[in-house]
Amino acid sequence: SGAPTPSSSDNIRVYVRVRPPSSREEANGAQPCLDVLGGQTVVLSDASRPDPFTATFDRVFGPEAGQEELFAAVGAQMVENCMAGFNSSIFVYGQTGAGKTHTITGDVARGEDGALAEQCGLTLRVFRQLFDRITDEERDGVRYTVKCSYCEVYNEELSDLLAAPGTRAAGGLAIREGDAHRGVCVEGLTEHVAVNADDVMALVQRGSANRHTAATRMNERSSRSHSVFTAVVEAAEAQPDSGVTQVRFAKLNLIDLAGSERVGKSGATGEQLTEAKSINKSLTTLGRVVTALTERQQHVPYRDSRLTFLLKESLGGNSKTSLVACVSPCEDSAQESHSTLAVVNQDTVG
Ligand code: ADP
Ligand code: MG
Repeated sequence: SGAPTPSSSDNIRVYVRVRPPSSREEANGAQPCLDVLGGQTVVLSDASRPDPFTATFDRVFGPEAGQEELFAAVGAQMVENCMAGFNSSIFVYGQTGAGKTHTITGDVARGEDGALAEQCGLTLRVFRQLFDRITDEERDGVRYTVKCSYCEVYNEELSDLLAAPGTRAAGGLAIREGDAHRGVCVEGLTEHVAVNADDVMALVQRGSANRHTAATRMNERSSRSHSVFTAVVEAAEAQPDSGVTQVRFAKLNLIDLAGSERVGKSGATGEQLTEAKSINKSLTTLGRVVTALTERQQHVPYRDSRLTFLLKESLGGNSKTSLVACVSPCEDSAQESHSTLAVVNQDTVG
């Protein structure tokens, strides 16, 4: 252990989080099949495999790792990156039920004393820290504006999770490139100014509820779509010599990816097949983009999926990306866990 991982670079970090067994898994007597060694290595051993599969990452979090630990290791750095002017993104990847939404959103309810819930996920912890940092900097005369948006990518179509009821398009928002100020932008995507973490919490709740409504109508849509919560952090600072105001932008993205499980391997048709193809396309492209960036290839295939095109300027360049691969601990998920670990472990990608 301690060896640098092949996937790791200054700009892209890959983490694994193994969730605890669920009460259902425990009741069924499910056998654990994942071990965490030394905080960076995960070993998968299951009956179908003659030898254990071992992979090393920037960090591996075991079932005992709590939400604050995730934030301290993954989230806090992203806030600093954002304050330093770098676009920063956190992705959660993995099969449905592996803990993606728990990790990125978790429980957003507030205690009576205003404290975050223990199970509060990365998003609110990140924004609480971001606004604390903004308050510090504003004392030094920098003025900040934080504008949030929340969208969903489903079947390669973009929709706005925060559009006013009645105006919410079913999908089909266009992505445009070339705005000199902001780079990639989504036509018609609503932006909402947040001045504190509570504002962000309200937006997350509203958007997630919209995602949820869709879920009851359409075959667990929330696990078949990607959600992207974005904050554009604008910092305006008067230059002491010239008095000219200089404005910087940094984007912070929190992305809950669609479930990575193979859908309907055996003859999926219609809606299921369309979903499966779209998810496969975007997750495969994301993997190819990350590989192209870490290997410094000339061509980065951002345009091959809506998700990567949307996030173009938040991947690559000086942007900072953290990928948290979530896995279930039990043997009945061993195949999917293996596939998740193999995909995010750049070393084993063929
Ligand atoms: P996904 O979004 O990947 O489909 P979820 O985040 O919804 O999965 O997790 C599935 C279930 O497991 C949820 O009930 C969630 O609260 C629980 N869970 C996931 N990860 C953890 C964890 N690290 N600790 C405790 N419970 C977890
Ligand atoms: Mg989820």
